[in-house]
Amino acid sequence: MSPIPGNFDVVWTETILHVDMDSFFVEVERLEAPALRGVAVAVGGTGPRGVIASASYEARRHGVRSAQPTATALKMCPSLIVVPPSHRKYADVSTQVFAIFRSITPVVEGLSLDEAFLDVGGLRHHHETPVGVAVMVRERLRTELGLPASVGVASNKLLAKLASEMAKPDGLRHVPHSTQDEFLGPLPATALPGVGPATIAALQRLGVVTIGDIAELPEEVLIGNLGGVVGRTLRSLAAGVDERGVEPDAEAKSISAEETYPTDLQGRDVMEAALLALAHRLVGRLRRAGLAGRTVTLKVRYPDFETVTRSRTGVTSTDSWRELYHTAVELLDELRPTRGVRLLGLGVTGMEPTEGHRQLRIDTSPEWERVEDTVARVRSRFGEDAVTPARLIDGPP
Ligand SMILES: [Mg+2]
Repeated sequence: MSPIPGNFDVVWTETILHVDMDSFFVEVERLEAPALRGVAVAVGGTGPRGVIASASYEARRHGVRSAQPTATALKMCPSLIVVPPSHRKYADVSTQVFAIFRSITPVVEGLSLDEAFLDVGGLRHHHETPVGVAVMVRERLRTELGLPASVGVASNKLLAKLASEMAKPDGLRHVPHSTQDEFLGPLPATALPGVGPATIAALQRLGVVTIGDIAELPEEVLIGNLGGVVGRTLRSLAAGVDERGVEPDAEAKSISAEETYPTDLQGRDVMEAALLALAHRLVGRLRRAGLAGRTVTLKVRYPDFETVTRSRTGVTSTDSWRELYHTAVELLDELRPTRGVRLLGLGVTGMEPTEGHRQLRIDTSPEWERVEDTVARVRSRFGEDAVTPARLIDGPP
């Protein structure tokens, strides 16, 4: 059926989809272990510093949340089954999820392993409505991969993301342009992006509870209490205005890998081995995204949570594990940690796309096999479940 001519432009106003897989790590585990279906289950670290990475909705009903210490989660829900994470498996399934997204539209901006914005505006000659595309995305994820996803459909990123949150779990929410004020108004002001503790405190002093309250405040009052930049930004977000376009992944800002260790790392050799493992993981992510970056950043967190970073920008971009590893070691030299290290992170920014043929060449090289061996040795030394949530770009899954 072809679109109704008079409705053509109206129907295609809301072309931004926010697709968010539901309890992604848990659902991937359930594919292989049907006994995990219908029960309270979480994926997370099982060591003394274990943290929940993803919780089933059955577990969430007991108060289990991602980023919660596993020990707390088990107190809230004693029957909780905790499955240690298998990051390689999640990354593989994520590649399949994104392959489905990219088979629908090239304008895909990944936010994490399991979450992306899709701009489907280019599909107006192939589908009746953007909602029809959203229905198809959910069906394909369900039938081809066996995974549930929630989708928000709206005229911009802000509204689409809020809509997918409200659609969860396993739902679809469409926010027609003409009803966006009714949609936004009752939501809490804290649902807006970038509203941190200082802003919340200032808004509370103004008696603001909902997004609708912000929209009703005179702009001078907002600016007088929050400053020009924050005041104006909040005001336009509360009005449902968001001019950001969907940036395809070649323009992704950063890709990183980090790990919190079950016991603090002590000594140079141990830290170097850990950096090698991180460089390996980072290269895996860069390759999947088809990207290389010019600026390498090392992050070090000490047991008291003091966190320091050092960066170096190269003349050319890199996705080579060897270059990343050597740069990381040089940055570690600059930082000279004189005490134990709780967390290490390695990231790159300043992205450029790489050619598609490179992966095959590097994956079959003897160097690559050697690093694989080294990584296996590192893993056997630190243990597989010394792993906290993997984050692609940023944000918890
Ligand atoms: Mg998700």
